Amino acid sequence: MSIEYRAAVLHGVRTPMRIETVTAGPLSGNDVLVRIKAAGLCHTDLEVITGSLRYPMPIVLGHEAAGIVEEVGPEARGVAVGDHVILSWNPHCGHCSYCDRDLPILCETYLAHGPKAAAFDGAYRARLAGGRELGQLMFLGAFAEYCIVADHQAIPVPKELPFDRACLIGCGVMTGVGAALNVAEIGYGDAVMVIGCGAVGLAGVQGARLAGAGAIVAVDLDDKKLDLAEKVGATDRINARSDDAVALAKAKTGGRGVDVVLEAAGQPASFRLSVEAVRLGGQVIWLGKTDVESEVGFRWGSLMGEKRIRRSSYGGARPARDFPLLARAYLDGRLFLDELITRHITLDEIVAGFAALEQGKAIRSVIMF
Ligand SMILES: [Zn+2]
Ligand SMILES: [Zn+2]
Repeated sequence: MSIEYRAAVLHGVRTPMRIETVTAGPLSGNDVLVRIKAAGLCHTDLEVITGSLRYPMPIVLGHEAAGIVEEVGPEARGVAVGDHVILSWNPHCGHCSYCDRDLPILCETYLAHGPKAAAFDGAYRARLAGGRELGQLMFLGAFAEYCIVADHQAIPVPKELPFDRACLIGCGVMTGVGAALNVAEIGYGDAVMVIGCGAVGLAGVQGARLAGAGAIVAVDLDDKKLDLAEKVGATDRINARSDDAVALAKAKTGGRGVDVVLEAAGQPASFRLSVEAVRLGGQVIWLGKTDVESEVGFRWGSLMGEKRIRRSSYGGARPARDFPLLARAYLDGRLFLDELITRHITLDEIVAGFAALEQGKAIRSVIMF
């Protein structure tokens, strides 16, 4: 059976999203219909709005969401109607050459169909009122009352986890905490620098804390974000607008530089800072993104000696394993999520919500349904 629901539809770069009634379904194969309860406004959505990340239109954005399973397709496994779920934007086939190498983020089917904003089988699930096919960003499209996903994108979590906190785990928190716990090799007592204290960076600070870092140096241009970083576990703060982050990092570490840098600002200056501030033999993990056509430069001397530099886009996520662990960590008081929520908004306030994100006035605005 097809369903009708309200969705925020983006028709072009830098045009305001419109709330429209769209149609989706019926479910087939391993489809799962999820009633969205909360969705976070993430920078990657903003990159599609501003055109620094290119996707076909019309499209429904939203890839950080949680909700309730309302219906399952005939072949869906692992989820049941009524489950509370966090949605993953990394479906993967499990048997291509990259999946065989344990790199689901590079799954060939994922990479083939993601840029088309299609569902995981390459087809489209939702339609505009006139019948035109409607894309879903990153296999989700969660700025809508409903969303059809593949079964393994819907990860059941405990029902006592509030939806507004749960949704954050689906992108920003997974990316930041995962970079520290799954991607970087942080030794007990290591000095870790986190550049950029938005949602991903604040999660990175917490991942470093959970990994046993001895010093966690938060870097940002905004004192309010640095206050939040200290609340969630940073031991030191640097406002790079007024202070020399490289000199301070070296002063803190006997002149060597920090052991690990998690870059989560996505600015050419922060990519350069990341390799200047890390010690010889240290690790740099790039999480931030800039315009796909922009160039980033480095002082060659900052790359001398051995340094390990990695780019990670989802914190080494294995959602079926990691989402329940992160949910548990929140419920046990080890992971702070309340601090990441700047405000709750409605779907009708989405355009203003993205304006606040672009102006740096929000860590996370969360749409409640
Ligand atoms: Zn695959
Ligand atoms: Zn995101």
